[in-house]
Amino acid sequence: MNMPVVPTDIEKPSINPNAEIVLRKRYLRKGPDGNPVEDVQGMFWRVASAIASEEVKYAKSSFDVDRLAREFYSLMTSFRFLPNSPTLMNAGTELGQLAACFVLPVGDSMEDIFASVRDAALIHKSGGGTGFSFSRLRREGARVGSTGGVASGPVSFMKIFNTATEQVKQGGTRRGANMGILRVDHPDILKFISCKEREGELNNFNISVALTEKFMQAVEADEEYSLIAPQNGQEDGRLRAREVFALLVRKAWESGDPGIVFLDRINRDNPTPKQGEIESTNPCGEQPLLPYEACNLGSINLATIYDPNSDDGIDWDEFKRITHLAVRFLDNVIDASRYPLDKITETVGRNRKIGLGLMGWADLLFQLRVPYNSQEALILGEKVMKFLQAESKAASKILAEERGAFAAYDESTYADKKVGPYRNATTTTIAPTGTLSIIAGCSSGIEPLFALSFTRNVMDGEKLVEANPYFEQALRETESYSKALMEDVAKKGSIAHMELLPDDIRRVFVTAHDVEPTYHLKMQAAFQKFTDNAVSKTVNLPSSASEEDIREIYWMAYEMGCKGVTVYRDGCKASQVLCTGEAE
Ligand code: UDP
Repeated sequence: MNMPVVPTDIEKPSINPNAEIVLRKRYLRKGPDGNPVEDVQGMFWRVASAIASEEVKYAKSSFDVDRLAREFYSLMTSFRFLPNSPTLMNAGTELGQLAACFVLPVGDSMEDIFASVRDAALIHKSGGGTGFSFSRLRREGARVGSTGGVASGPVSFMKIFNTATEQVKQGGTRRGANMGILRVDHPDILKFISCKEREGELNNFNISVALTEKFMQAVEADEEYSLIAPQNGQEDGRLRAREVFALLVRKAWESGDPGIVFLDRINRDNPTPKQGEIESTNPCGEQPLLPYEACNLGSINLATIYDPNSDDGIDWDEFKRITHLAVRFLDNVIDASRYPLDKITETVGRNRKIGLGLMGWADLLFQLRVPYNSQEALILGEKVMKFLQAESKAASKILAEERGAFAAYDESTYADKKVGPYRNATTTTIAPTGTLSIIAGCSSGIEPLFALSFTRNVMDGEKLVEANPYFEQALRETESYSKALMEDVAKKGSIAHMELLPDDIRRVFVTAHDVEPTYHLKMQAAFQKFTDNAVSKTVNLPSSASEEDIREIYWMAYEMGCKGVTVYRDGCKASQVLCTGEAE
């Protein structure tokens, strides 16, 4: 493989030790002997130069390729912005698959089901995650015309997808992740709701129940609702909506699964309804997509736009500059990406969706000394997201002038509303940034910190110890700082009950478990208000939370306009990705 030569006059990135471990293990290109053929600087230059070189296709570009490559390089190495992991891993390589999110259709025939298993395997191999709706499959026990036998039903077929995923270890990069969705009016819904109740079952799937407004109204009115056979649209049984809702809540209380998605709401925001309905999201729920659609994501690190000298502590000009460059970057990623299926290339080319989001939100709040669980934080969250939404749209408009609107623009809802034209059918998504936030050394997505100091279990049992730098700095500025105190915090994770610490520190430096569950949800809703796609957010609950608490959260999510919700009750699963000291 020809690796691009790194110019001698660009600065080496300064990278934190945890990021170095993650990048060495999975991101740096390796030669036939398994040793890296690039260093971290080489990786960022490979990505920057490959993505900038797409610019030559467009006669009208206002950027010189070399200048743009340098801008992209500095954007990434200053950790102001990072594209999703597959772009970092594969840009400028033979594989060249750069998107994190895919949705595949699953049709009600053996041919369709196994074609989908095969397509998913190819996507996983290339580092992408897949979402599926299994709602088109006839229910377990239904007749199969061609053989006179009986059908296995959605849950049974999901096990095949799960096993296939297990065997494809994403070419040594990351394990495949899947989202499985079933409509609440599918006849197998009860079986689906309980399909992950045993530890380890369907371990490569997140599952979500697609709730309709009709169903939610039936819950409210305490009525029955109809189950519909997908193969013929006929009623196939009735269930009491409240009983189904209660089961959903119980299972989520027990294991965190299933989550819920509000399908009608997702489709109300579908910018291209003439191409069909959206029936699924990507694995972590933040990206609703049409069948055969893919989307690449990228995240701006809000910790880097803090400016103590500005009126409100935020450098809005810099935020705007980063946003415009990031949109250009992500639009170029679409052209640079090679998808494993022609149908995906076609669908992506029609709509050109990108998902620009944010990370480092909790870090920005720490720097501003604004508590996450405050009205002030909710208002600021809306303001920040509104700005990102407006500027990403402005950037997409500039690209449309230079390069043309996305192919399906004329039949999109933007054309009806006479806004645009835009280059991209969507521009904003809040991703979890699980790995990106480690690389950037910031808090993930719009989540509060899980702990102020903690041990992180990542990939292959490796453990990384981290203390939040803003917290450490704030403590050092007080008289309370001592090594013993830091060790104590590492053990507890939170300082909520450390009464010896100054009140203002305890108020600002809150962690996920110090934040009331309703505040988690309010924050999600604040960001959702100005996000085209969806918001990845976990509503953390203490282990003492009741089923009623979860029911309340689900209902609030519905009423506040969220597109879905994921709850996680502490300790409800044996293996957690993040652990505080005491949980070790
Ligand atoms: N994803 C995946 N496998 C993984 C992690 C993520 O397929 O192990 C996909 C999935 O679609 C997820 C999306 O990448 O919703 C974004 O996840 P995240 O932001 O955590 O990824 P990062 O870019 O930080 O690695």
